[in-house]
Amino acid sequence: MRRVEDDIAYTLLTHDEIYDKVHEVGRKIAEDYRDKNPVFVGVLKGCFMFMADLIRCVDIPCEIEFMAVSSYSGTSSTGAVRIQKDLKGDINGRHIILVEDILDSGITLNYLKNYLKVREPASISIVTLLDKPARRQAPVYSDYHCFEVPDAFVVGYGLDYNERYRNLPYIGVLKPEVYS
Ligand code: 5GP
Repeated sequence: MRRVEDDIAYTLLTHDEIYDKVHEVGRKIAEDYRDKNPVFVGVLKGCFMFMADLIRCVDIPCEIEFMAVSSYSGTSSTGAVRIQKDLKGDINGRHIILVEDILDSGITLNYLKNYLKVREPASISIVTLLDKPARRQAPVYSDYHCFEVPDAFVVGYGLDYNERYRNLPYIGVLKPEVYS
């Protein structure tokens, strides 16, 4: 039987490491946003596992929304961000926390932040599971991030390669032959 982990060259972050760190970051966000009733805006699809774990550690009143964008094809960004699913509710005066799987070139989150700013929220902050600072092209940073990762294409815990590997419960690097 073929298993999803047969295509993984090595594990970068184990499920336990992710679990511990996501709890730490979730508790910090809960402290920082006490009495602010923030709106967590998950960026689909990559955020789904991270968002589900993170939100369970944030024990304050809050709301959850999702947006969907596309900019990636295979392992490289097309550079052009397209909104596929927008927010329905009014965010004027609200505290927004964008939840993204990975901050890579920064093009997606930079675009989204500017896109939402026009609706005059009280604040916008960014939480990412992973950060690849070496690849940054746009002037954007995460207010909360769990892990810095090296410049390698990673999959698992929600992150895909051509829509596969999202169900892997940890973060890994694919075997080179998977790309060819
Ligand atoms: P950015 O616009 O910052 O370059 O990239 C944002 C999006 O690109 C992420 O939300 C993610 O979907 C995708 N991405 C960037 N780097 C990786 C990676 O190493 N692995 C996977 N699976 N997706 C990535």
